[in-house]
Amino acid sequence: MNKQDKHHDAERKLNIHAPWRIEYINMLSKEEQGCFLCRIRDEKDNDAENLLLWRAKHSMVVMNRFPYSAGHLLIAPYEHIGQLEQLSSDAMLEMMRLACDAQKLLTTSIKAEGFNIGMNIGHCAGAGLEGHIHLHVVPRWGGDTNFMAVLADVRIISQSLTDLYRQLQQTSSELNLPQVNFGR
Ligand SMILES: [Zn+2]
Repeated sequence: MNKQDKHHDAERKLNIHAPWRIEYINMLSKEEQGCFLCRIRDEKDNDAENLLLWRAKHSMVVMNRFPYSAGHLLIAPYEHIGQLEQLSSDAMLEMMRLACDAQKLLTTSIKAEGFNIGMNIGHCAGAGLEGHIHLHVVPRWGGDTNFMAVLADVRIISQSLTDLYRQLQQTSSELNLPQVNFGR
């Protein structure tokens, strides 16, 4: 099974009702062996274009370009590692602290009412990008549990990711986030 088929297979299993994510699958296929998180990490002059919100010492926070809900963030270590156990304790601590700061940001900026925070590790668990672990922070609102409502939001939000990026940067500076600085 080639890489593209594998991604399609994963999408079919997990996101059968999310046809808009085909763009994401196509992007992953195009990047072939490349890793979009490593690319974003290295493109230091393109943080706004890449929707990179925060760079901390060991890890970074990026807006998911193909979000499950508005403000869906990814927290990833700079290091290209595929397993949680490969993370240093400092990086683990930092990522969890960034998750706390991400909650503060999303609660203040877009009035998130709840969160799903987690990782998909391995193809069978739905990891779209294998090999570079990342923590998803997905904001939720009362009433969004109807899947079609989430989808409708996503369509609107995907057109205004840049506006949302600016808004989140503005709120970050107002709240002085992130507050993990580990001698950065
Ligand atoms: Zn990577």
